[in-house]
Amino acid sequence: METVNAVRGGACSAREVVTACLARIEAIDQKLHAFLSVDGERALTEADRVDGALKRGDALGPLAGVPIAVKDNLCTTFGCTTCGSRMLESFQSQYNAHAVDRLQQAGAIIVGKTNLDEFAMGSSTENSAFFATTNPWDGSRVAGGSSGGSAAAVAARLVPGALGSDTGGSTRQPASFCGVVGLKPSYGRVSRYGLVAFSSSLDQVGPITRDVRDTALLLKVIAGHDPRDSTCVDLEVPDYLKGLEKTSRPIRVGVCSRDFGDGLHPEVESAVNRAIETLASNGAEIVPVDLPHVKYGLACYYLVATAECSSNLARFDGVHYGRRTPTPTNIADLYERSRGEALGPETQRRIMLGTFALSTGYYDAYYLKALKVRTLIRNDFDRAFDKVDVIASPVTPTTAFRLGDKTDDPLAMYLSDVYTITANLTGHCAVSVPCGVDSNGLPIGLQFVGPAFQEQRLLSIAHQYQSATSHHTAAPPCASAN
Ligand code: GLN
Repeated sequence: METVNAVRGGACSAREVVTACLARIEAIDQKLHAFLSVDGERALTEADRVDGALKRGDALGPLAGVPIAVKDNLCTTFGCTTCGSRMLESFQSQYNAHAVDRLQQAGAIIVGKTNLDEFAMGSSTENSAFFATTNPWDGSRVAGGSSGGSAAAVAARLVPGALGSDTGGSTRQPASFCGVVGLKPSYGRVSRYGLVAFSSSLDQVGPITRDVRDTALLLKVIAGHDPRDSTCVDLEVPDYLKGLEKTSRPIRVGVCSRDFGDGLHPEVESAVNRAIETLASNGAEIVPVDLPHVKYGLACYYLVATAECSSNLARFDGVHYGRRTPTPTNIADLYERSRGEALGPETQRRIMLGTFALSTGYYDAYYLKALKVRTLIRNDFDRAFDKVDVIASPVTPTTAFRLGDKTDDPLAMYLSDVYTITANLTGHCAVSVPCGVDSNGLPIGLQFVGPAFQEQRLLSIAHQYQSATSHHTAAPPCASAN
């Protein structure tokens, strides 16, 4: 991140950096709608604090003066945490998410909260109750989702980095649609404390940045043990940035021996195949791997995710949190109308699907079966990782689709997650990096999936790919406008 050195070296002050960032947001975000809220005044006060520390010669954190955007399902004590929902339109958190605290301790300046599909359910950010985010490369197309606001903000150069959350692809898919890098850390690598839960066994917080170096920098800051999330592991956090340059032995890249499946656009397929050839010509060994149960991934995901969502979202009942219908006639009416009025159609659909899957008589047939399939999928990947360091694949079957194209067809929308959801089911780490553009000039992403807690190796392989190519340096036209 150039900003880090610029502020540290005195080339510019943190106030100047933040002022320029706010001006860009002001100029460009009216069209993009990446932000749900921007808090300029607080950001400038924070910037002054960094400048003061610099002047006094105090030790500075690794992100001193760097403006960062945060997805609006991460709790912050400042502003609202809406989750893109009418339910939490005016909800103010009493505490910061762990990842937010870590960013601030590292000197980062959080400039605003970004748009998302309601409660992070969706693949296009069109399920936001407030507005859809548009793709910086083409304003008639979606930015992807659910962290569409974070990906669009980074791609349009409004901020150098952002946080998203990834339950089934929500950092990687929008990163791919917007031509930036998105990471889903291994389950347990980053604390979920203060991340509003969608599906607790799948959710992870992850960075979205312009290149792999910046992803490594952000991951180092947010990763590590936090006793407030019992699933967050107590494992040492390596210096991911330093680790990028290490090339101990030749890389072994797995490629699924069955083809990438139906529905894959030929232009995406050929870009991914070209990327694999590039890896091979740079010395990687390409190894076919068999993942026989991956074809059940989507069905399995949409049972586990909806079941957990129906349970997690039960807390939004008009009593404990968020919107309460003004004139309830009795308690059942209070629940029904508060939820009915304040939750959008996709959220309601998922709650109903999940409630169904967990009901007596269906639990064994659906939910339990899905858990068994989940284990089979994890075993497939673990077996493959005996032979390879990472598995390469597309991130999404197509490039960014048009706004409104899939809003009436939930199944078509769900299919855009077909390559990303497995890493959430298995808990492995996965990253999406730009690997070209299609004939409309829209970015295409390449996904690497690595074994659990092997982010160091995963990122160094992604970095090697980026060092051999220049796709990540392409910027959308609005990035140079001001
Ligand atoms: N698009 C997927 C879904 O709708 C994943 C969302 C996410 O990762 N938060 O569930």
